[in-house]
Amino acid sequence: MYKKLQETYKKTQMHDYFPSYLLNNFMQFCLEQQHQNRKYLSPYKFANENKLPVKDSIKFFLFLANEEPILEIKYFFECSDITCGHRNFLSQDEIVELNGIDYSSIYCEECEKQYNYNDIKPFIKVYFEVILDENLNSDPNSTFDALEEMSSCVKVESPSFNSEKHNNAESTNEGDGNDGVQLQDLNNLNRTDNGEIISNQLQETLMAVYDFIKK
Ligand SMILES: [Zn+2]
Repeated sequence: MYKKLQETYKKTQMHDYFPSYLLNNFMQFCLEQQHQNRKYLSPYKFANENKLPVKDSIKFFLFLANEEPILEIKYFFECSDITCGHRNFLSQDEIVELNGIDYSSIYCEECEKQYNYNDIKPFIKVYFEVILDENLNSDPNSTFDALEEMSSCVKVESPSFNSEKHNNAESTNEGDGNDGVQLQDLNNLNRTDNGEIISNQLQETLMAVYDFIKK
């Protein structure tokens, strides 16, 4: 996984935005979250631990959710019934399909409450799930060894990067890491400063869901 991280870091513009020590931190973060049995990684939490602005942390995650992804984007909406609150997951294909039909209905799979798809559109959220490879999966010790090894050679901290202002606007979401990211917020974050799309997969979904988004 670390190799994959490094490749993505080199191949994409990720290296223009983020210092390389964050790759180590990310590996460490994955292990911690796995240890705590957290299925989904919270960019809010990662931002918090690494003193990153939330929007940068989300961009970091999006870079890892493109070709040969390390993170998979999961789409869901929460049932608005207070006694239910079930998280209903939707695949990208399902979302595209729902968008193709006028007035399509969708049901909560738990309580069977009926929704008009157009009504839930603004409330679609995403989670980031690590696509586990054998490295992280089978033998955590060897991964820790690998981490030790690389932390001795890769440790370049950039003070200017750390001193960047924090984005406190979304701090309410930094809680337990179970909060998803609003899909519509990702529209602005899925581009680099020179306008290039960070995650093509996500962009496809965004364009399917929100008519106002142009390629
Ligand atoms: Zn429900």
